Amino acid sequence: MGGAFSKSGQVGELASIDYLLAKKALLRQFKAGQIAKNDLCDAHPDLIRAAKSIGAPAGEICEVCGKGDIVHISYAFGPKLPPYGRCIAGSDELDRLRTTVSEFTCYVVEVCPQCHWNHLVRQF
Ligand SMILES: [Zn+2]
Repeated sequence: MGGAFSKSGQVGELASIDYLLAKKALLRQFKAGQIAKNDLCDAHPDLIRAAKSIGAPAGEICEVCGKGDIVHISYAFGPKLPPYGRCIAGSDELDRLRTTVSEFTCYVVEVCPQCHWNHLVRQF
């Protein structure tokens, strides 16, 4: 994978495999016509905005629309953070967050700015 924060290292690899399997299952159902595109491509407008401004290119083409460049966005959630989470713009910000907030969970989401497909990539 090698996302924006791969240098931090301690990603839960088992968890990310789960998300990958869930994603593959979703895409399989989509390709078999069992899921509507609208049900997959339901990214919140804020997420799309974040994807366009701070998203880290994943180097993958969206499997849903076949056109969009997938970007990864990271969000931090924790007791001392806003309830809707905090968008992390880069690894510098992640480091800063680590020193100021002791407890938080970071979610990495992949987003297609073209068709609004979004899926959880990993959590750490
Ligand atoms: Zn797409």
